[in-house]
Amino acid sequence: MATKNSTTTGNGLSEERAGALRESLRGELIDPAHQSYDEARKVYNGMIDKRPAAVLQCADAADVMAAVRLAGEDGLDLSVRGGAHSVPGFGTNDGGVVCDLSSMRGIRVDPENRTVRAEGGATWGDLDHATHAFGLATTGGIISTTGVGGLTLGGGFGHLTRGCGLSCDNLLSADVVTADGQFVTASEKENEDLFWALRGGGGNFGVVTSLEFGLHPVGEVYGGPIFYPVDQAGEMMAFYREFIADAPEQLGAFFAFQIAPPLPFIPEDRHGETMCLIVTCWTGPVEEGEKMIAPLLEAAPVAAEHVGPMPYPALNSAFDALLPAGLQHYWKADFVEELTDDAIAAHVEHGPRVPCVEATMHLYPIDGAPHRVAEDDTAFAYRDANFACVIAGMWPDPAHNERNTAWVREYWEAIHLHSMSGGYVNFMSGDDQDRIRDNYRGNYDRLAEVKHRYDPENLFRMNQNIKPGG
Ligand SMILES: Cc1cc2nc3c(=O)[nH]c(=O)nc-3n(C[C@H](O)[C@H](O)[C@H](O)COP(=O)(O)OP(=O)(O)OC[C@H]3O[C@@H](n4cnc5c(N)ncnc54)[C@H](O)[C@@H]3O)c2cc1C
Repeated sequence: MATKNSTTTGNGLSEERAGALRESLRGELIDPAHQSYDEARKVYNGMIDKRPAAVLQCADAADVMAAVRLAGEDGLDLSVRGGAHSVPGFGTNDGGVVCDLSSMRGIRVDPENRTVRAEGGATWGDLDHATHAFGLATTGGIISTTGVGGLTLGGGFGHLTRGCGLSCDNLLSADVVTADGQFVTASEKENEDLFWALRGGGGNFGVVTSLEFGLHPVGEVYGGPIFYPVDQAGEMMAFYREFIADAPEQLGAFFAFQIAPPLPFIPEDRHGETMCLIVTCWTGPVEEGEKMIAPLLEAAPVAAEHVGPMPYPALNSAFDALLPAGLQHYWKADFVEELTDDAIAAHVEHGPRVPCVEATMHLYPIDGAPHRVAEDDTAFAYRDANFACVIAGMWPDPAHNERNTAWVREYWEAIHLHSMSGGYVNFMSGDDQDRIRDNYRGNYDRLAEVKHRYDPENLFRMNQNIKPGG
């Protein structure tokens, strides 16, 4: 424990405490005096500028247990960080402890049983790379630098959702360090209540040191982006609504607004033009891909496209370069049951006002396999939603914060009138905490009970927070 009169390294960790920890850790303890401190305290969202007392760069589950015990015993805030992509910046804090898992990225594929185990700090790029060697994959995010842990614990959407389910639907088991510093495994067979809560309940229940997933035979896919002139947005959205409802589940296709980036397949004179687009991913037989995607190429004049056969990890990292770490982020989100004509009208009003090349609106289809899981089978409660919509404000210059956040807010207010009450927790901002009950609907009270059992003091509170006991 910290002694009262000892010198502190920052806002609450004594030098004695830090020294003792350093001797027992395999990983590194980075405090404000450390030369790597400014690098270690950074998260992906450049808007977040926090100064934790210590960043524990954990090497293994034992280090994670030490980080959790440190925060619990010293009464310090505790942030858990995997891929660091949390838009509200939950992966850091002022004056507390960061349990940084970014050195824990090991992946082990079991090709015979079609499973993979990923350490808690792995990214989707790590996982896709390892499983692709065996012609296998599971649902992950569309930007490969995103963390497997954070994304899966909130639910997890991507190109494979319609056919393979949410990322959390593919989770078979998880190793977890709970608030008391104990290590438990959660699955359908042990600690079932914890396993239920982890599949959608976010980082509320403990630090997940490894995750085991079921895999699907996905190797080469047929897909890529198709850009349309923005004056076609209304017609294309209406076409997309009917098309995706009837499309086989092996077809992923999300709708977006985006300013055309300077990519080689987009005619140079159209760089910087606001467009709408559909990003496709066919995971059935590759030779059928052209036929599957043809209706989208024929529905309206195409401004540019980059569709064809490619390895799944190539599609899943195709947009990484557009979104380097350090951009400013402000996002808002909703689930959508029906994409009504009025909703389309709201999109057509606000989508084309997308303020810069990094910013976007994505409308992900989440019908198909996710609908075959009952609403109370996992913590993720929106099994009747057909789409997850996110208005993702992303821009490089803090001087433009007002303009960009205003676009996100105004767009969200317009579409929220046509949406379900809740949204995806992983697409929420820091000012969305009051939506927590709506985000979990009928599952909230059970989540609060499980939270009370595993984290009665709410040590894991740096998240879209579920309060113990309700
Ligand atoms: C550029 C970008 C693209 C995205 N694309 C998608 C997408 O395609 N699909 C999608 O579903 N979401 C997407 N997201 C949202 C993403 O799911 C969330 O931002 C998620 O929180 C990121 O997880 P992380 O591990 O990278 O982030 P972190 O900031 O490291 O973690 C966020 C929070 O998750 C919890 N957490 C993370 N790892 C663990 C762990 N091992 N154990 C316990 N708790 C943990 C903690 O509460 C932590 O504070 C995207 C986000 C960004 C910024």
